[in-house]
Amino acid sequence: MTVPVIRPGATLGLLGGGQLGRMFALEARRMGYRVHALDPGHDCPAGQVADLEIRAQYDDLYAAQVMARSVDVMTVEFENIAAETLEAVAQVCPMRPGAFVLHTVQHRLREKRFLESKGFPVTPFREINTEADLRKAASELGLPAVLKTAAFGYDGKGQQKLTAQSDLASAFAALKGQQGILEAFAPFEKEVSVVASRSANGETSAFDVAENAHANHILDTTILPADISPAVAAEAQSMARGIAEALDMVGVLCVEFFLLPGGKLLVNEVAPRPHNSGHATLDACVTSQFEQQVRAVCGLPLGDPTLLRPAAMAQLLGDLWPEQGEPAWERLLAFPDVKLHLYGKMEARRGRKMGHLTALADSPQAALKRVLAARSALTS
Ligand code: AMP
Repeated sequence: MTVPVIRPGATLGLLGGGQLGRMFALEARRMGYRVHALDPGHDCPAGQVADLEIRAQYDDLYAAQVMARSVDVMTVEFENIAAETLEAVAQVCPMRPGAFVLHTVQHRLREKRFLESKGFPVTPFREINTEADLRKAASELGLPAVLKTAAFGYDGKGQQKLTAQSDLASAFAALKGQQGILEAFAPFEKEVSVVASRSANGETSAFDVAENAHANHILDTTILPADISPAVAAEAQSMARGIAEALDMVGVLCVEFFLLPGGKLLVNEVAPRPHNSGHATLDACVTSQFEQQVRAVCGLPLGDPTLLRPAAMAQLLGDLWPEQGEPAWERLLAFPDVKLHLYGKMEARRGRKMGHLTALADSPQAALKRVLAARSALTS
């Protein structure tokens, strides 16, 4: 399979204008590409650094097709875009990844059934349409278990942990008529993830395994590489590449895993785009996840994912912002080895991802100490 190469100088289209798009656009522009970004908001993080910001809703097929005429290839930085939009774009220019990938992974039941059908291990689950389904599933899978909305969930939104004490009727009512999925609770030892890339020519590559810690269901810190055995790391990387192939993905995806005691990996979910657990690749790897996305969608050879030094990333959420004005960045920047990345978002809300920090050190744990110390200096 050889596809025409889209060389620097060409224009790359981006559906979604958030921070992942911003970092993609910065890497693309460094490499001499032009970038057009579509987002429903104005002055979006990617729009600020793109050649052109297009303000339109994601279901505006006309706007998506008009934009597609002005670009050489279209990609995404956000998965909750309807398949119809991607199909409309694909009539005009290459859409990478394609509608099938997004359609599959944006719905937890479809995603899990697809992964199971391809032989990838997932947490046991049941489809929930009625309260009776929930009662039956809870007795079959056992409690604790996690009830999630099947569609459009991320960062723990629409999720409830059910225990033997939970009232299943009110848990079902909280789905508010949306389809649900009950997942057996995975008694994980660690949460790890792998960002994998697959180019338009079918070449695949994987970054080192990242080890993630969440706070309030939002990724808080990542260390790279994960503190796991080489055999488990190799298996996680091989699964992530395998999933990219099975989906016929073109671009970058992230596979999040639960690592169970004893070394078994279960796939939690797949994001069809760069991921915040891969942010450290910008400062710590020969090639970043965003450059890999550029290379992959342009049909270029993939870059070297080698980790140059152990690294850590800490997310900066809106919670760190004072009532008025900006945090005291000079306190954080007094840590000369810590890199500050801000996404250009004007409004800091609780839980909103505003930026992140990266540090490199002799060990991932030492790097983690540095980003945590720098982050706490902001508020101390
Ligand atoms: P998700 O939105 O599915 O990535 O879930 C967010 C976080 O909730 C995960 O990173 C886990 O920490 C936790 N979680 C979700 N599903 C499960 C599960 N089946 N078992 C244990 N923890 C879970």
